[in-house]
Amino acid sequence: MFANRRPLPRWLRWTLYGLGAFVLLLVGAGLFLRWYFSTDDLDSGGPLRPQQAAYDVKRYDLAVAVDPATKTIRGSNRATVVVTAPLDRFEIQLDGRLKVERAAVDDAAATFVHEDGLVTVALATSWQIGERHAVALDYAGTPKVSRRPPWNDGFVWKTTGDGRPWVGVTGQGDGGDDWWPCKDHPSDEPDEGMSIALTVPGDLVGLTNGKRVSEEKNADGTVTSHWEVTYPINNYLVTVNIAPYVPIEESYKGVDGTLDEKIIFWALPEHEEKARVMWKKAPKMLEVLGKRFGEYPFLRDKYWVADAPYLGMEHQTIVAYGADFEDNKFGFDSLLLHETAHEWWGNKITAADWGDFWIHEGFGTYAEAIYVNDTLGVEKYLEYMRRPRKHLGNKKPIVQGHDLTAGAAYIGDIYGKGSLVLHSLRYLAGDDVFFRIVKRFATDERYAYRLTSTSAFEALVAEELGHPIPWFWKQYLYTAALPRWHEERVAGDNGRERVTLSWDDPAFEVPLPVKVGDEIRRLEMTGGKGSVEVATGAAVEVDPQGWVLAETPAN
Ligand SMILES: [Zn+2]
Repeated sequence: MFANRRPLPRWLRWTLYGLGAFVLLLVGAGLFLRWYFSTDDLDSGGPLRPQQAAYDVKRYDLAVAVDPATKTIRGSNRATVVVTAPLDRFEIQLDGRLKVERAAVDDAAATFVHEDGLVTVALATSWQIGERHAVALDYAGTPKVSRRPPWNDGFVWKTTGDGRPWVGVTGQGDGGDDWWPCKDHPSDEPDEGMSIALTVPGDLVGLTNGKRVSEEKNADGTVTSHWEVTYPINNYLVTVNIAPYVPIEESYKGVDGTLDEKIIFWALPEHEEKARVMWKKAPKMLEVLGKRFGEYPFLRDKYWVADAPYLGMEHQTIVAYGADFEDNKFGFDSLLLHETAHEWWGNKITAADWGDFWIHEGFGTYAEAIYVNDTLGVEKYLEYMRRPRKHLGNKKPIVQGHDLTAGAAYIGDIYGKGSLVLHSLRYLAGDDVFFRIVKRFATDERYAYRLTSTSAFEALVAEELGHPIPWFWKQYLYTAALPRWHEERVAGDNGRERVTLSWDDPAFEVPLPVKVGDEIRRLEMTGGKGSVEVATGAAVEVDPQGWVLAETPAN
């Protein structure tokens, strides 16, 4: 028997069509959002490939020509390396959108395979420990375009108000291999520096990292500028900025007033006026940060900032600024300050593993608060430090593990919560010890211009405090949730009562400020507990100024 198939009534049919279209729209929108906000397949970091652990990069010599008209690039990079374990082939990353045209090992042509963003170069004879070799690649093509810079990487091809090219490139998530061949891992910086030859159309200004040593006009109307990066540099900090820039100069006198360092903001002509006003405050920023963290770390190269076609990035000695030239209510441009603070935290002091990303962003964000502290005083500092508290995620620990990719390690809490961890450490250690810790971390030769880690910082803090504080790091860096305290009152004699505050974890011993009457005192929390005697029923306000990162009480 067959079912009696009567057609659906028209209203029902159209409702079903409508519903179907709506579902398709939702699915489409979902896919688009997933694509738009996803991190990339070219993520920097993660476990280091054994073939790449077997060499140490000493130097990069990069030449790149950028053509804004065709949105293409052509380049060559020579990596000079020292062998740390025997190698029978050489591996270096370059995005597959770019085509490798030639490879050479120690100036002799070599065969290679370019697959899944990895260039594997054949070696005529295997390399032995301690040998020094150079591998050069020539390449060209249409590089990846960033869809959401700087949170997603690649080139940014914008135009100025009058239609002229305004070009930048970011690589914090992907690493430098979006546009130049490099060992795409944060753990290896060229110890002997880097040279960059940048070729751009002759009517534009091309800017990149390091000191500009010369410039020449080419027969085809382009200009090539030559730059020498005289400090180690992480591959994600290498960049170009290209536009019809105008220079705005100020002089930085140094923390002790003995320098006369010309610092330059390269502005689009349409931003010149606003940029001029903002840039007047740059010397003060360097001075305040320099007093706390040691002198500006790249004086041999420069401190320049480029008007960028994206919000910002800490590109070493050519910081990208793309905000609106507006001061915040604390009287400074927070983006300029934040990215400039990265010259210390991120560029000079660099995490070897993206798992320790918070060292860049936590210290960078905290530097803003230090600027407030040192220009406006501690009350304003405390106000500044209360702001990130409302936006904490507390879903994942700040340090999620080792061998992480940049994309996996990048969570919002590495900024605000990272800075609040330092703020709580300041309360625990006291100002003298705390600021000595911070300055030593920024200047001690164990870390400065080298790679560092959270455990190195923990060890330094233990040195300065005279004892380790594993419970502090466990709670704040390796646990997602905030610490919690609760309060108990026990009636005593003579109209008095004892108020006891206890941390949920008895091993956690961060002292708590308590306000009784008009007085705020520091309650030591030995064994996770501290108590104070007050008149029965008297108010005891815990941490009224917000010194200690904690959840509001459980009871
Ligand atoms: Zn930052």
